[in-house]
Amino acid sequence: MTTETKLSAAAIERLTYTRNFGIVAHIDAGKTTTSERILFYTGRIHKIGEIDEGTTALDWMAQERERGITITAAATTCFWRKYRFNLIDTPGHVDFTAEVERSLKVLDGCVVVFCGVGGVEPQSETVWRQADKYGVPRMAFINKLDRVGSDFFAVLKELRERLGAKAVALEIPWGREDAFVGVVDLVTMKSVKFDSANPSTAPEIGEIPKELSAQAALSRHDLLEAAAEYDDTLMEKYIHEQAPTEEELRAGIRKATIRSAQHRGGGDKREPMFVPVLCGASFRNIGVQPLLDAICDYLPSPLDVPIPEAHHPHTGDPVALSPDEQGPFAALAFKIATDPYVGKLYFLRVYSGVLRSGETVLNATKRRKERISKLMRMHANKQELIEEIKAGDIAAAVGLKDTTTGDTLCPEDAHMVFERIQFPEPVIAMFIEPKSKADQDKLGTALGRLQDEDPTFRVRYNPETGQTLMEGMGELHLEILVDRMKREFNVEALTGKPQVAYKETMTQPVEKAEGKHIKQTGGRGQYGHVVMKLEPAPPKSGITFISKIVGGRIPKEFIPAVEDGVLEAAMTGPMAGFPVTDVTVTLHDGSFHEVDSSEIAFKIAAIEGFKQGVLKGRPVMLEPIMLVEVVMPEEFMGEIIGDLQSRRGKIENIAQRGSSRVIRGYVPLAEMFGYATAIRSLSQGRAAYTMEPARYEQVPKHIADELIGHGGKKR
Ligand code: GDP
Repeated sequence: MTTETKLSAAAIERLTYTRNFGIVAHIDAGKTTTSERILFYTGRIHKIGEIDEGTTALDWMAQERERGITITAAATTCFWRKYRFNLIDTPGHVDFTAEVERSLKVLDGCVVVFCGVGGVEPQSETVWRQADKYGVPRMAFINKLDRVGSDFFAVLKELRERLGAKAVALEIPWGREDAFVGVVDLVTMKSVKFDSANPSTAPEIGEIPKELSAQAALSRHDLLEAAAEYDDTLMEKYIHEQAPTEEELRAGIRKATIRSAQHRGGGDKREPMFVPVLCGASFRNIGVQPLLDAICDYLPSPLDVPIPEAHHPHTGDPVALSPDEQGPFAALAFKIATDPYVGKLYFLRVYSGVLRSGETVLNATKRRKERISKLMRMHANKQELIEEIKAGDIAAAVGLKDTTTGDTLCPEDAHMVFERIQFPEPVIAMFIEPKSKADQDKLGTALGRLQDEDPTFRVRYNPETGQTLMEGMGELHLEILVDRMKREFNVEALTGKPQVAYKETMTQPVEKAEGKHIKQTGGRGQYGHVVMKLEPAPPKSGITFISKIVGGRIPKEFIPAVEDGVLEAAMTGPMAGFPVTDVTVTLHDGSFHEVDSSEIAFKIAAIEGFKQGVLKGRPVMLEPIMLVEVVMPEEFMGEIIGDLQSRRGKIENIAQRGSSRVIRGYVPLAEMFGYATAIRSLSQGRAAYTMEPARYEQVPKHIADELIGHGGKKR
């Protein structure tokens, strides 16, 4: 859907020089350092701070500094050559994959940073697959080539073998480890040497050192051959053994990078993805400027990428959009963050039209009007007020009230919604209560705010027990949220032990789930009556509500109340009080009373009907299953496998990586508490593991019975 429409020359010029991109990486690969160097070279910060001292401009949340990890995707604008960069910093820890996922959705391209020693680590693989899903074109930056044991070519090979990418070097390193001083640029066939101690000095361009000329020729040949497969001009020259010009080669690389990613995103997996690979050591100020040039040269502009599909919220009809300033305004709110000074910041990607400060727009997802009181561009932790944001750009808005992540904003008289961002279900739960009476109200506010910001964080209140549960993606995730409550909201809270976030679902359809709420005691009574069909739905589909009421059996105005009742009932399931998921509810019959019917009566009837229905549909409990990867020396393999099996684990495969063995398998989260300690003693501290949520599966019956008997009742 690339647009060749009648955009104005000014719009084309502006968009051609815009790059919305993110940097993603496994934790510790050097993403923060690289982002910070980008801000330095583009003149946004004037002094290079050391990540290790926690002074990075992008990591502006206090406890991110302490932990040295980036949780909040802060969007930053900076300029390189004629280009405007909107850089989104994304987290590397897998507890925060939702953050990565939503940034990927609004970005046009990304740079994946790998550690020159660690190579392709499990979480880089996860992020890579997420980027595949959205068809995001990307480049790889192999960092830390100054470190002992780093190996550019070994990581390049891993990119090919483990990620299945057509990873092609655009540079090769000049020297290694301590003696790493620069790169050889395979497009210009020149060497580039950096003054590591004086980052402000321009790199020195020269001839290729003799000792590298053979490798450079070989790698350049690989590059020409690979790029030719995607571009006719290059193919023609390749066949006739003619050297392409620098411009032709750059154009070919650009085309290959963008097209091959989009084909894969579109489901065409035949063509391997072309990924340009650069190298450097950000910490030593080596290789960053060529990376910035490559972002301009090879990552897509907003003109190169399709606009996400939008449709009319009621009719479902597609709405065609182009990145045209003259077109109807359409934006996606992809991130909400609380700023200590300005309050809530709503990060928006504008896909079409223009949004001006002071305007009132429609949140089409929530069907609410929102006023934009201010618009601002973020420069690391500094803000610049702006008057408008145009199609293709990213900026933050202030003044909205009801908008949450993933909502669509459009003009008041237009109706369109973008496809929602899918977030994973929380897998870990923890009780929380205020420490004192004074903390009680503040706790509610804090939980509400944090929930608005983070779609993978949920708060559930159980009216039966009066307890509040926090649910999130991992122990670290919840720990950080509790910490933020203390720092940002001044709330002291007591928490329980983290526990598994189970769910309930049904396994058989129930044709008639009926709920009645009828009271006729003098004066005005209450009357609500619904008949619904409940059916098991595919995993991850949640609760779907459909109304097939015809002939006014239930008046239109009460149907939203029925839906509310169903959603409320689904929050505490009838088996053991866990949320119900993956059920399709079709409201097909019922009755009403002219005088006595009310929204609340229908809501109560729906709650009753849903609960009865689920109980009739052979309900089961579901538990989160984790994908676990353990890396260890061969000698410990037997014991570690045995231990995983005793934890109800299923081993999927065992592979060799260097001199280590890697076991991958699926294990219920319930069996993984305390695994860090267990594996240390099993392997004398020599094994390492990672885990991430994979899916939900049915809990074996004997375990479910126990949960209903004990844990369940407590809820
Ligand atoms: P992130 O977790 O991916 O954001 O990684 P950071 O940028 O915080 O870097 C992790 C650690 O690696 C820090 O101690 C950095 O100083 C260090 N580091 C980053 N880049 C380099 C590099 O090029 N060379 C070396 N030797 N260390 C680096």
